[in-house]
Amino acid sequence: LRNYPQVIVPVKIVIIGTANAGKTSLALRLVKDTFQNESLPTVGAMFLNKFFAFDNYTIKFEIWDTAGQEKFHSLANMYFRGSKIAVVVFDLSDTDSFNKAKIWTREFKTNSNPEEPAIMALVGNKCDLNKATPQSEIDAYVEQEGMLYFEASAKENTNVNNIFRTLADKIPAPQ
Ligand code: GDP
Ligand code: MG
Repeated sequence: LRNYPQVIVPVKIVIIGTANAGKTSLALRLVKDTFQNESLPTVGAMFLNKFFAFDNYTIKFEIWDTAGQEKFHSLANMYFRGSKIAVVVFDLSDTDSFNKAKIWTREFKTNSNPEEPAIMALVGNKCDLNKATPQSEIDAYVEQEGMLYFEASAKENTNVNNIFRTLADKIPAPQ
């Protein structure tokens, strides 16, 4: 961090979505620039840090990975509380994964403070595969929910850094 501005702005991000969407893969691609074809053990209660330098400050993302198959309610408090950004991931090649993303979006909104609304981003991962959900359906959904939308491939390293840099741009500069 030698060349990063020393005013550090910590920002909690939670990555949610169904199992196999590629949540852990996206986090590991972003932070460690690695990818594995096997299903990955989820980081769980740990988080990964990623730094983005701006002119006078540095955004420090604290990225919380989750295990999608676990019960929503046991996760909700610990993972959602204090999250300034929610990244809802689905597998573009799997319509069920898109439908589960909707449930996760709803669950996050239900459990977060409406007076401090989080930035919400929907990420269609695995854009290296064939798209199963019509784009018009995705567009209508993100419009309705007020979400940003991105496509990515953790496998091919498509758009991953750009997504998180774009999210960092949305965080207000410290006073
Ligand atoms: P998680 O359960 O949401 O954390 O998903 P994982 O990160 O464990 O990934 C699930 C599976 O999808 C693994 O076999 C990954 O190798 C694979 N995967 C993840 N991202 C991509 C991607 O961008 N493209 C393709 N083709 N496979 C991916
Ligand atoms: Mg995982």
